[in-house]
Amino acid sequence: MDLKKVIKAGVFGVVVGDALGVPVEFTDREDLKENPVVDMREYGTHRQPKGTWSDDSSMMLATLDSIIENGCLRYEDIMEKFCNWRMKGDYTPHGRVFDIGITCSRAIGRYRPGMDPLACGECGEYDNGNGSLMRIMPVSLYVCLDDEFWHDAMFEKAVEDSHDASVLTHGHPRSQIGCMLHTAICHELIYREGKSVLEAVRDAVIRTLDFYDKASEDYPWFNEAFSTEIEMDSYGRLRNLSAFKELPDTEIKSSGYVVHTLEAAVWCLLNTDSYADCVLKAVNLGGDTDTVGAVAGGLAGLAYGYENIPKDWLDVIVSKDWIEKLCDDFARVMA
Ligand SMILES: [Mg+2]
Repeated sequence: MDLKKVIKAGVFGVVVGDALGVPVEFTDREDLKENPVVDMREYGTHRQPKGTWSDDSSMMLATLDSIIENGCLRYEDIMEKFCNWRMKGDYTPHGRVFDIGITCSRAIGRYRPGMDPLACGECGEYDNGNGSLMRIMPVSLYVCLDDEFWHDAMFEKAVEDSHDASVLTHGHPRSQIGCMLHTAICHELIYREGKSVLEAVRDAVIRTLDFYDKASEDYPWFNEAFSTEIEMDSYGRLRNLSAFKELPDTEIKSSGYVVHTLEAAVWCLLNTDSYADCVLKAVNLGGDTDTVGAVAGGLAGLAYGYENIPKDWLDVIVSKDWIEKLCDDFARVMA
């Protein structure tokens, strides 16, 4: 396996999907049906030049940089880097933050040196935006590239790391489960070899939901405050992936709710067979276009490989060389 290429596929998959979605964020699906995104655009919603990526990629790249510097997941350091992004404009394409989610903003505002970073994310029912899912790729890669074969203890470690990474900003079980589903799907896609994309995603989803079905009572957050059934039902449509794939687009929502975002990304992945088609389908669903594009893009990058990401799109990405260097450095850490 070419480690560098896998990492670039995941990381640039997210960044390119994000940049395609930024100019049309909050646009209605009906409007995009009449004037669909077919290429990298500029200006639009946030009045940014072509190739500009948003908070999704900023927080993702901050996480990537932290893992490179520490060689492991150090949550204090990831939170420090989120603070530097928020306050100083680190990890932004043009030196300033033009977009931030409320839940992420509150969690970063709460963090102080010495505080437990795992106590920063709010955990109410309405704190289930897609703000941890959108930045989880480096954690998924870090956990996945450790080993091709996940025995039960490794799978549990993947659950723990995905959960903890989510909790920095999003503490509700539904957000944590969304991040673990992402990690498991990445693992299956990276090592899928002869499997189809649908088979790979199905294996990941079934193993993950089965794990929660069996292990839920072992997790402190599956107590009376959180209904196991509700959390499992939230992602229940993914249990029958062949039926889920056939749903019409009217059944697929592309809001900022974590479940909608993950479902939309998976649905686009299953109903296309290239990186470009997957991210364009995702962005043209409208709504939270940058994040649905970013999540779909990350998965499609891993499914089809770095070479499948259109070169024209990569070439306009702001700070492309710096992101590429981060990917190379991350590959050295993971080697
Ligand atoms: Mg964004």
